[in-house]
Amino acid sequence: LFTDGDRSGPAEITVSDQRLQHLRQVHRAAVGDSVRVGEIDGLMGEGRIVSLDSQRATITFQLDSPPPAKLPVTLLVALPRPKMLRRILRSAAEFGVEQLVLFNSYRVEKSFWQTPVLAEDTMRDYLLQGLEQARDTIVPAVTLERRFKPFVEDRLPALLAERRGLLAHPLPGASAAPTDTDTPLLLAIGPEGGFIPYEVDMLQAAGLETVSLGPRILRVENAVTALLGRLLPVD
Ligand code: SAM
Repeated sequence: LFTDGDRSGPAEITVSDQRLQHLRQVHRAAVGDSVRVGEIDGLMGEGRIVSLDSQRATITFQLDSPPPAKLPVTLLVALPRPKMLRRILRSAAEFGVEQLVLFNSYRVEKSFWQTPVLAEDTMRDYLLQGLEQARDTIVPAVTLERRFKPFVEDRLPALLAERRGLLAHPLPGASAAPTDTDTPLLLAIGPEGGFIPYEVDMLQAAGLETVSLGPRILRVENAVTALLGRLLPVD
């Protein structure tokens, strides 16, 4: 659960509506249960449900611990259809990426850029769902790049100054996707129809190395989770 505002000492929140339904139906919460509470972009702590009925739940808590470390990854995804975009926003936050760049590519349908999911508040809601799931509080930055060439030429070089750039592309002979983040990574994933050769050439010329997940062609959302899953530290 997220609380608003700065709370250094013990505090209390009252939860209603959707968040209450989630607590009651998904978690089968009861008075006395503990609940993880966090402040957006801040500390986290253990809370306890002190009262609960069909209208509201009251939780007391103290925020005293930092969120887990982020995954040092900037994820570049060619803008997918809205349903998949929602999943990718949740997953990116859940895996702890630092930054998500949604970029345009030849095979991205123009209508995808009109979706209400791209509204800042809506994207934030999906990101918060992923963070809640992972017990994290730090909201990843999301950037929209509506034009491929100016993005690759003008803004990608600055991102690559501090990161190893990788292009996920199912190409025979490409090296295996990495399993560590010893160096911060920039990972680019193409659209449902794949990158066109011109885009692959441009991204490679910008300094991205091609990496593969093997011969199986995965849906965009599965390629994202497979790539990030390999990188997730377990300690
Ligand atoms: N027909 C397309 C092609 O050959 O590029 C398939 C595109 S795939 C559905 C969507 C994106 O997921 C790809 O552009 C790539 O970034 C990533 N992807 C899927 N499977 C992959 C694999 N086995 N290795 C590396 N990347 C993969």
